[in-house]
Amino acid sequence: MDSLISQLIEQKYLKSPQIIDAFKKIKRADFVPTEIIKEKGKSFVEEYNAPLPIGYSQTISQPLTVAFMLELLQPKLGDKILDIGSGSGWQTAMLCQIVGSNGFVWAIERISELKDFGQANLSKYNFKNVEFIHGDGSKGLLDKAPFDKIITAASADQIPQQWKDQLKNKGRLVTPIKNSIWLLIKKNKNHFEEKEYPGFVFVPLVT
Ligand code: SAH
Repeated sequence: MDSLISQLIEQKYLKSPQIIDAFKKIKRADFVPTEIIKEKGKSFVEEYNAPLPIGYSQTISQPLTVAFMLELLQPKLGDKILDIGSGSGWQTAMLCQIVGSNGFVWAIERISELKDFGQANLSKYNFKNVEFIHGDGSKGLLDKAPFDKIITAASADQIPQQWKDQLKNKGRLVTPIKNSIWLLIKKNKNHFEEKEYPGFVFVPLVT
């Protein structure tokens, strides 16, 4: 087994079988710019537990952070998921793998070139259960709501009301706010169970 994945399992960042399986099947090296692969090599990228530049001042997230956020999100077979700030498409691809052909992932990215980059990277895997959208995800995606799960990769100052409104009851929202990751579970229209996990660094959500 890959040593980074074994390490994330040992350290209890990775726990759920469907998430571990997605980490094994979707290779991070398929989602970084080719110059980085040429310079550092595929196996370096696969084992590297840190963000890497993908252009436009953005990064592909750190594997540890993605593992932590996906474990909080608990994506499942058949889920409809909104992925805000799809960047390289790596996490989007893992979500497609997990939700399967009865689920669906909408991936929004505000930088048009990165939307194309993520989409091209993901095309290596032939998923049919995904749509990439160029736009501002800070208002969610009303057309396709409600979602079982919403995950965002960029940090806002506060959680937009639209994200909460666009979640199904029992739905889960995982998002960075400043330097914390927050998990919100929707109990009913106006009631959310909330938990904060401090100590992370994210690029800002640009609105
Ligand atoms: N999961 C991605 C993370 C990329 S970094 C990966 O691992 O590759 C976060 C991304 O959020 C960046 O690509 C950035 O352009 C995007 N972003 C920032 N604000 C946004 C907004 N309001 N709507 C959509 N995407 C946004």
